[in-house]
Amino acid sequence: MIHIDGSQGEGGGQIVRTSLALSMVTGQSVSIERVRAGREKPGLMRQHLTSLKAAQQLCGAEVAGDSIGSPTLVFQPGQVVPGSYQFSVGTAGSATLVLQTVLPPLLIASEPSRLILEGGTHNPWAPPFEFLQRSYLPLLNRMGPTVTATLERPGFYPAGGGRFVVEIEPAPPSGLVSFDLLERGDIRSRRGRVLLSNLPGHIADREMEELTRLAQWADGTLVRESTNAHGPGNVVLVELETADVTEVFVGFGEHGVKAETVAKRAIDDLRDYLVADVPVGPYLADQLLLPLGVSAWQSRETSRQCGTFRTMPLTQHSQTQIDVLQAFLEIPIHVDSEGPRESVTVRVGWK
Ligand code: AMP
Repeated sequence: MIHIDGSQGEGGGQIVRTSLALSMVTGQSVSIERVRAGREKPGLMRQHLTSLKAAQQLCGAEVAGDSIGSPTLVFQPGQVVPGSYQFSVGTAGSATLVLQTVLPPLLIASEPSRLILEGGTHNPWAPPFEFLQRSYLPLLNRMGPTVTATLERPGFYPAGGGRFVVEIEPAPPSGLVSFDLLERGDIRSRRGRVLLSNLPGHIADREMEELTRLAQWADGTLVRESTNAHGPGNVVLVELETADVTEVFVGFGEHGVKAETVAKRAIDDLRDYLVADVPVGPYLADQLLLPLGVSAWQSRETSRQCGTFRTMPLTQHSQTQIDVLQAFLEIPIHVDSEGPRESVTVRVGWK
């Protein structure tokens, strides 16, 4: 049994999701104490409980602590069964984070899977659907599997009701293959998108104007789209595609936040990323650590693979992710700081 302190480092839901994913991948049981102790409302919230139940369904696990607000949980995994599943958060809680939990074991399963996920698709503090589709999944696909995601309907807080479908063709039996992502490569395209649902059109107009003013793209495209979401919602998405990676930055429309500020938040994150001159942004970094860790772990007795990437100074999410990975997988993970450009190179596996 692996014992995880849920209050360590970031002290959030990622510790729970990564622990469940790695428990299913490695077959090791896990107990988590002080679940999400670093958050204002600690314990399991609806989205984490949905992730736990999804993981349980996937592998027939024995579970304790599966209730809202629970500060502890125990998960004893069984055999992962790939196939068709539907997971619904039931509130506007993030469905993309539920996917984060169940995807790793399905990437290395023996058969394909098809998942329908329902809940929030564009939540603050979670990957927006486009990040998943345009940034994260193409990198996973480079490791051997073929994973596609299709958005049927966006879900925003507070109405929720979003829905997307994920098709997973797992990696070949030889396992996931690590990659190196040290440079960003030439810029291929820049895209700004304003999504608006059941809100006054002037919000999108002002966001489009602010994007145009701040971005100053000679060659970029800007589009606005109305959505079929169940309730009101608004996001600004800015996408930068380069030769080796696509990054997606987001500003979330919120009550009391000016439309111009929402657009500026997405552009500010894009600028920080461009200035850092690295291929991997801060969110992608913590999320890439997991498949690279699994790839190294799978290769521990034979090829002893190594994946590397260059990113901005590590967030607490990334640092905590490394600590949880090392609790489950006996693999080396090294972080080397590089001077003037304020970037770090992360090496997962054997040199
Ligand atoms: P936690 O706060 O522990 O529940 O973890 C949140 C997860 O969502 C982490 O994996 C973050 O990298 C991810 N995340 C948060 N905001 C974004 C964003 N704007 N784009 C992509 N991923 C995000």
